Amino acid sequence: MTRLRSGSATDIGRNPRRTLNQDMILESNAIFAVADGMGGHQGGEVASLIAIEALRRAFSPEGGAEGLVRAIASANDAVISESESTPDLHDMGTTLAAVALIDGENEELLAVANIGDSRVYLFRDNELTQLTDDHSFPQELVRRGLLSKAEAAVDPRRNQVTRVLGPSFGAGPDIQNLIPYVGDRVLICSDGLYNEVDDDSIASALRTITDPTEAARLLVDQANANGGGDNISVVIVDVMDDDGRAEAASALLADDEPARPPRERSSMSGLMTADQRNAELRRLSHDDAGGRTGASADASAGASTSSWESGREPDVHDMPNRRITGRVIAFLVVLVLVLAGAAAAIGLYARGAYFVGLDEDERVAIFKGRPGGLLWFGPTVEDRTSLTADDVPAARADDVANGRPFADLEDARSYIRNLVAAANRPASDPATGTPTPTTEPTPAPPPTSTPTP
Ligand code: MN
Repeated sequence: MTRLRSGSATDIGRNPRRTLNQDMILESNAIFAVADGMGGHQGGEVASLIAIEALRRAFSPEGGAEGLVRAIASANDAVISESESTPDLHDMGTTLAAVALIDGENEELLAVANIGDSRVYLFRDNELTQLTDDHSFPQELVRRGLLSKAEAAVDPRRNQVTRVLGPSFGAGPDIQNLIPYVGDRVLICSDGLYNEVDDDSIASALRTITDPTEAARLLVDQANANGGGDNISVVIVDVMDDDGRAEAASALLADDEPARPPRERSSMSGLMTADQRNAELRRLSHDDAGGRTGASADASAGASTSSWESGREPDVHDMPNRRITGRVIAFLVVLVLVLAGAAAAIGLYARGAYFVGLDEDERVAIFKGRPGGLLWFGPTVEDRTSLTADDVPAARADDVANGRPFADLEDARSYIRNLVAAANRPASDPATGTPTPTTEPTPAPPPTSTPTP
């Protein structure tokens, strides 16, 4: 089981014109979200509350990413039906950024969904990455290359959202899947945070404060200290246990290869079918803890080498001639060590890199090893994704089909993230979309269509 821990904080902010906190937070076993409501009278507060409630009721992990999208659509229906039945609330809407633990094909995944300008960030390996794209007018211009990111951050139209639950659902939420790893921290927030606190300060809080509630509180305090022009909401979700995913992959590798003689290994692709892999993983999970601890990628490369070395040992021990001198034995020992050293070096070279390619199901995956393998060191799957060959942008299709090499795993993962982002990017043209609702511009001028409650 993937195990998560979360903490959150929300605050009305320091803007005297804001008398209500229209943000709403959801923290539950498997789903976490921030909704930032907007609309006259009490519309914003009602919209975010209704959306969060409907999302919580409709979501279940078994539904996968599609189930999360359906749950968000039902939250949209709930907001619309309430706004239609109450004249005062006709213009209400809400953003929604959600992270959910879902059942993927072979493993649990984090599904990240977003509509509007609330955001989801990933803090992994000491680096902060913004996972979601804002559906705001200036961000649409950034995507089209008409505005720089820095310009967008201060653009007076940055509060104009182009897609929200309620009045302008449009193409619905963007959705992406994330493979969770121990140590990952996912941050969900409303614009009240990132308009006041820059990425470096967010990263620093996540780096230094382990407790998610304390980290969320500190970020809210910093937003207030920097002006607190809007309601501020922060949810932090920590991945505490990833089902031993990384360890199992290494153990699988170390466990699998000694069983096959070198000849056979050179002819096999090094890939397993999903069923074989699952059977192996099930078997491993029933092993005692001893077999799974401390198996790093380097150790696994070493393990395949030492098994080859031990295969040579009988040659020495079975030597029948009693007249062998100590010098000959010493020579043979040195010879074996040299051969083992050479094999280890080849193994390290063959197994010491990664590439992004297609697995046997034509899905994009990260492989450990070299494309096509080297001697008997075949590549093995390190990470699988749900992307198919068809999802890969045309410009990168050849690269992925041939195996795109990377020196380290993190580079390969960030390449995958870009592929996922490109695959998820909606093809809609922002020029034709009318940016309707407005999350009350923080500074003057006062909004014309949206009276502040
Ligand atoms: Mn806001």
